[in-house]
Amino acid sequence: MYNAYFLPSPMTPNECITFDPEKCIGCNTCVDVCRCDVLMPNPEKGKEPIVMYPDECWFCGACVSDCPKGACRLNHPVNQRIAWKRKETGEIFRVKYSYMK
Ligand code: SF4
Ligand code: SF4
Repeated sequence: MYNAYFLPSPMTPNECITFDPEKCIGCNTCVDVCRCDVLMPNPEKGKEPIVMYPDECWFCGACVSDCPKGACRLNHPVNQRIAWKRKETGEIFRVKYSYMK
């Protein structure tokens, strides 16, 4: 017998993508280009899409780059935003892992 648990994403709860309602025309291009089906069209015509499955987002940026109005932007997880500063030089850098080029 196994137990199944559902845990909320602690880093980007429901906010992997944010929309600017002033700019969005509800064209749903972002919905169409998303390969992970994170977004769904808003039932109210002309309104920004609904972020349906935020935990499925790969942060590929396709929705942002194809938006004709520049109305959406990525909301990166906190652990991907951290930068470090070298005391000696003041250089700001991000930690790179072996799989990063
Ligand atoms: S592609 Fe841009 S303008 Fe079109 S629905 Fe998405 S956010 Fe809104
Ligand atoms: S960043 Fe990529 S995976 Fe995430 S919602 Fe946009 S198109 Fe979909």
